[in-house]
Amino acid sequence: MEIGIIGAGPAGMTTAYLLTQKGHKVAVFESGPHVGGLARTISLWGQRVDLGPHRFLSKDARVNHLWEEVAAGDLRVVKRMTRIFYSNQFYDYPLRPINALRNMGLPTALSCLASYARQKWTGRARLEKPESFEEWVVAAFGQKLFEMFFKSYSEKLWGISCEELDADFAAQRIKKFSLGGALLSAMGLDRQKHRTLAHEFKYPTGGTGMIYDRMAEKVLAAGGEVHLSTPVAGLTADAQGLRFQDGSSRHFDHIISTMPLTLMCRSLADLPLEVSEALGQLTYRNTILVYLRVDADSLFPDQWLYVQSPDLKLGRITNFRNWVPELHGESRDTILALEYWCDDADEVWKWDDVGLIEMAKAELAGTRLLQGASVLEGSVIKLPRCYPVYRKGYRQSLKPIIDHLRTQVPTVSAIGRYGAFKYNNQDHSILMGILAAENIADGAGHDLWSINSDYEVYQEEA
Ligand SMILES: Cc1cc2nc3c(=O)[nH]c(=O)nc-3n(C[C@H](O)[C@H](O)[C@H](O)COP(=O)(O)OP(=O)(O)OC[C@H]3O[C@@H](n4cnc5c(N)ncnc54)[C@H](O)[C@@H]3O)c2cc1C
Repeated sequence: MEIGIIGAGPAGMTTAYLLTQKGHKVAVFESGPHVGGLARTISLWGQRVDLGPHRFLSKDARVNHLWEEVAAGDLRVVKRMTRIFYSNQFYDYPLRPINALRNMGLPTALSCLASYARQKWTGRARLEKPESFEEWVVAAFGQKLFEMFFKSYSEKLWGISCEELDADFAAQRIKKFSLGGALLSAMGLDRQKHRTLAHEFKYPTGGTGMIYDRMAEKVLAAGGEVHLSTPVAGLTADAQGLRFQDGSSRHFDHIISTMPLTLMCRSLADLPLEVSEALGQLTYRNTILVYLRVDADSLFPDQWLYVQSPDLKLGRITNFRNWVPELHGESRDTILALEYWCDDADEVWKWDDVGLIEMAKAELAGTRLLQGASVLEGSVIKLPRCYPVYRKGYRQSLKPIIDHLRTQVPTVSAIGRYGAFKYNNQDHSILMGILAAENIADGAGHDLWSINSDYEVYQEEA
């Protein structure tokens, strides 16, 4: 049996790695020049950096086992430090009452508690079945905290109002968490430790992408193929093969697709009208990463900061100095990555690197984060379609697409973050890869579309 895999990100590489270990013939086709997808690690100014913060965390024994097996001990435990940057102040995350009180002042803190209490007593109806992200968060944290710590960040990230954003996003990312839970945790009184409050994590000494580079090495060593800089144009008319940009094609017994679901489906022959209309409803959000090399070696201690302030366009800052020393090596500079989110149609997406670097430098200069240090140079990476937008109604749009793939295109499995239109982290994409490999190698019959629906995830990205 020969398997064709589109994309060498965590989902595609996991499937390829496991199938080749079981003796199957596998060919991976990756449009970019590297493996690792969004979780790759690159060299920059003599240091190693990821595409924004990449902390790996999973409660799934299968995922952890695989990740650790590939890392083969080349990991360090990182003491997690990530705070919220709001109105030029640092708020501890998870919330610590004394720190929040000091930053906000007593009147604002009391008004947050009053707003939460009001929600608890009077907001029952909204709590029962929240439909939007806003309803969900207000039910869990109260209106005031929603406005301070969720609204601006989420609207920057998704580009739509929190009323238009589906509650699924919150349920997946802030599961079973509330102001009450945060306060209990801060006082050491919670019985169940929430996953998002983990105080340390393991990180590969070669960067997050080390895992997928090693998988690729093992795939090649086992006789598999990994074709870089080889974009797949689409599927052949019988959905049994891949078409390439030079007009050639290649037949496979089964295809694993991690390319954007919308693009893969649009390449299928004879799509019913209902399916093409549904595809038109699914949208993705882009990320612009502006890396700045700063002439300093200890700017702030966080691995990353959430920038909630509505007056700044940037949403998150990663400080690669604070992950593992192997990333910066002997260098004395700090590399920061500033994240901006936008749609294809937004002007900023078309800006050249010079304009983007100037914008990032100006935004940073207006904060206290640089502490007078100078920015030596900048570099830009644009990531198209990296966030599937959970706009209200997206599940209804996905349904005819999934039904069509299940019934009419059984030779193709769509997995991964944009591949399955699921807001995956690495662990979800690895799990999808594991289950897809088990389906092919062992006939396991897993329903790949059900993953992530009841899976514990991170609060950070909310
Ligand atoms: C800024 C940022 C921060 C993140 N932080 C974290 C974090 O802290 N922890 C965490 O676990 N996860 C994090 N993630 C998510 C993580 O990067 C993704 O979940 C993971 O990379 C998804 O893997 P994937 O294989 O599903 O998709 P991808 O990584 O997107 O890989 C898909 C691959 O398919 C390739 N491809 C696309 N189209 C084609 C085509 N036509 N032909 C051939 N190849 C194609 C792409 O080039 C890519 O390599 C973050 C993501 C971003 C953007």
